[in-house]
Amino acid sequence: MFNFTDYTVAYIIGGITFLLLIVMAIIYRRISNKQKKNILILVSVLIFICGGYSTFVCKTKTDTMLQEIDAFNKKLDAKPSYLESSCIQYKNYPPIYVHSDAKITESDVQLVKETLDITPEWLYKNATSITLTSQQYLIDNFGVDENVMGCSSFPDRAVYTTTHATSSGLEHELGHVYDYNFFITFNQNHQDITPPDVLISNQKTVCEVASELDDFEHCMSSYHETFADAMALYVESPDKLPPDLKAWMDSLPK
Ligand SMILES: [Zn+2]
Repeated sequence: MFNFTDYTVAYIIGGITFLLLIVMAIIYRRISNKQKKNILILVSVLIFICGGYSTFVCKTKTDTMLQEIDAFNKKLDAKPSYLESSCIQYKNYPPIYVHSDAKITESDVQLVKETLDITPEWLYKNATSITLTSQQYLIDNFGVDENVMGCSSFPDRAVYTTTHATSSGLEHELGHVYDYNFFITFNQNHQDITPPDVLISNQKTVCEVASELDDFEHCMSSYHETFADAMALYVESPDKLPPDLKAWMDSLPK
């Protein structure tokens, strides 16, 4: 109904209403006809109601709009507070380590906690720790590519993830750690082994489904990656797995 950015319109409508009422009062004093006086009173009441209501609506809308602008500006100014280096022990999950120079916020930790809440114990219990860190740390310490958002290390079975990683990214890394423990695509010496036929025959299907979450080429790059993506799907969307692969994963040690 009204579009304005300050109280000017409210003042103008209020002022016009006031002036009209004064004019009505002057006319009222100058005429003597009783019927005309009654009509004047009726018109004055209508002016008072319409003018007063419009002034009230203008002021209320301006109040609301200014409050919204103020809240928006405060949100823009608010700087996220980054966590100091710490170790968070949540439920009976692996300890969550935070690296202070990685600009980790409370909500990044919350995402890890929520992901662990939907992760079965037989999967997360294989990991010794989960570290929230920077991509630079992964590049410096594990020699990963710049676009990698998480990794896991052998033989300490530690998982590393960045603020760019999704929940399925964390499940993927836990899939690698499971692989280190149960020798699906690695042997005890961390050398490549040929995985079961059911993983080989379903590699392309798994990677096509997983491409919604991960990079198709990365998933196809080795059976290690295919298995890790299959594990993320097994936790988050098991019905999307080919039935024979899902049946085999059901039968894996838990
Ligand atoms: Zn991987």
